[in-house]
Amino acid sequence: MIENSKSGTAPSKAADIVLFTMDGWMTCITRRFQPTQKAARLKRNVRHQILIVKGMKIYRIIIIILFHLICLSFVTYAGQKEANFTERVLAIPAKNFESYTFSPKSSLLSRMESVPSFVLDYLKKMDNRPDYSSYTPSESERTLITEYILKLPPLHQNILKKRLISIYFVNNFLGSGMADFVLSRNSEIYTILVFNPIIINTKISKWLTYRENTCFINNSSEHKIKIDCGEEFTGLMYGLLHETSHIVDYVLHYTPFVEPDLTKINGYEVKDSDFVQGIWYQYRKPLREYRYTKRKQITFYGLNDGPKINETDAIRLYEKLVKTPFVSLYGSLNWAEDFAELITFYHLTEKLHQPYKINCHEKGKLVFSYSPMKFLKVQQRLHTIQGVYSSDKN
Ligand SMILES: [Zn+2]
Repeated sequence: MIENSKSGTAPSKAADIVLFTMDGWMTCITRRFQPTQKAARLKRNVRHQILIVKGMKIYRIIIIILFHLICLSFVTYAGQKEANFTERVLAIPAKNFESYTFSPKSSLLSRMESVPSFVLDYLKKMDNRPDYSSYTPSESERTLITEYILKLPPLHQNILKKRLISIYFVNNFLGSGMADFVLSRNSEIYTILVFNPIIINTKISKWLTYRENTCFINNSSEHKIKIDCGEEFTGLMYGLLHETSHIVDYVLHYTPFVEPDLTKINGYEVKDSDFVQGIWYQYRKPLREYRYTKRKQITFYGLNDGPKINETDAIRLYEKLVKTPFVSLYGSLNWAEDFAELITFYHLTEKLHQPYKINCHEKGKLVFSYSPMKFLKVQQRLHTIQGVYSSDKN
């Protein structure tokens, strides 16, 4: 610093660091090879170093303090955000674990209950449907429900025992059903299942054909889309597989998060997910190569101002879907639906030995038919769901 001042240039901090390194090195050379020369200069150099070291210490201390202040503000902000979110959720009785009675030792069948008013009110408000009402399954329906639950992957059954509070049936419920999270005060995730009772007795192929057609504007009487999933099961098997897969995902994080709101719980989001790797860029955004035309216009059950796609464009849409790793149009909506759909159709075809075909008819003739589970891009990602069937997770 002193040497530089002589040259009339005020040294910057960056210059100090360079100088320190240079002088330090020079001093070292001097000490090693010329121990007796220019003692005064050596003394000056030592003093020079002490001054710069002091300068650096202050500089470093300021940086460290600033760094800690920034970190602290982030932690405080995240903590505040989490607390606000948790409080907002807990204020809704249907989302608050303390509103329910739960025993992980009870049988799943005993958790099939009539819908309490606080849950019914919540559902009515959520879907703006005053016509929702509780449905009580008959004895034979309860037997069928139990039988189907026993056909779910063992991991699903295990997670249900630990985290499923109740199974409800609601008349006129929009869609097949819904898995919803319920939060405990320590941010533990529990769940409830809500189903449309119509799926209990409607054949699975008929129900899935109905669902698929809600995606299209019926602009031609000569075009028909049919889903073939066999005749052995009813829509309930589809509903149970799909919704309980969401529960498995809520708890075991096959995807980074099942719904974006959950990222407000500190530490809930998982960054590294084999399932979404190489397929999804964001929750609703697949990688560029899988963002096919009209994907953003896909809607179901009249939600989001749908349907928006003409039935006459259906084949062109499926021709795009064939080139992606998604097993259904529904599965290409977001990564959570992708996971639920892949498990569902994998289980239906590979474990329950049912067909799964999308068939398009024109003027009574079958003009397009494909089996999504047989496509290479779908097959190539099956290893990411094998954990569901491995014994170590059961
Ligand atoms: Zn779903």
